[in-house]
Amino acid sequence: MPELPEVETVRRGLEPAMEGARFARVEVNRGDLRWPLAKDFARRLTGKTVTGLDRRAKYLLADISSDDVLIMHLGMSGSFHVFEEKGSKALGRYYRERSNHAAHDHVVFHMSSGAIVTFNDPRRFGSMKIVARDKLDAEPLLKNLGPEPLGNEFDAAKLARACKGKKPSLKAALLDQRIVAGLGNIYVCEALHRARLSPKRIATTISDKTGAPNERAERLVEGIRAVLNAAIGDGGSSLRDHRLTDGELGMFQHHFRVYDREGERCRTRGCHGIVKRIVQNGRSTFYCPVCQK
Ligand SMILES: [Zn+2]
Repeated sequence: MPELPEVETVRRGLEPAMEGARFARVEVNRGDLRWPLAKDFARRLTGKTVTGLDRRAKYLLADISSDDVLIMHLGMSGSFHVFEEKGSKALGRYYRERSNHAAHDHVVFHMSSGAIVTFNDPRRFGSMKIVARDKLDAEPLLKNLGPEPLGNEFDAAKLARACKGKKPSLKAALLDQRIVAGLGNIYVCEALHRARLSPKRIATTISDKTGAPNERAERLVEGIRAVLNAAIGDGGSSLRDHRLTDGELGMFQHHFRVYDREGERCRTRGCHGIVKRIVQNGRSTFYCPVCQK
């Protein structure tokens, strides 16, 4: 499942193809994604301009000139690809010729920029939904999301307050999208390692009795930001399905310090620990029992 860095990478790939461009034609080849696309999906977009392409947690949000917002989610196996229409001017490194793996191209946007943007999703857990911009605050997909970890409103004080009194583990707390948005299994493991905090530690221990942040909360916020920025810089992690929009692989999986490294040496300088795998809430956690306390 793509996490924040993978979705941000996709956003950056789509931006030059979509922002400022009109939907010249919208093809819906299969409308039965995670939920059915609205019957008027194509009609509502056709002829309208994308005025901005943003991201909220793991959602892509395209602002449309009709005062609608197109919400897109990659699900488990969704990917966007940008192709160059024959004869159009190249708009950057995200362009390539359209290939012939089109069987799972469920939605295709023909943009006035000359770009063809395909949404390909073999397992069809991805989704698209158009909502009016003035209804966005009430949108159920978005309204309970916590702060963006790379945004200004996320800091140690906010994180500590959200964790105050919480008995579940730090691992579980960081996966809770209401506490902080966009993190999944990989980046939670990596952030906890950078912060030298055990994934089993009880969440409330990053705050004092009043809910004020202690030094652990500061380290954790730094760890989260550092790992996300590093991963975005590498185009995200390609473990299964993630691709950049030009078909290239993200490279951050080569820089994992603990994730998927059971039995290997800890990468903390001076630490001789061996990475251990445990199961928390039914999912694998990787950590170093020596330097993560
Ligand atoms: Zn270690």
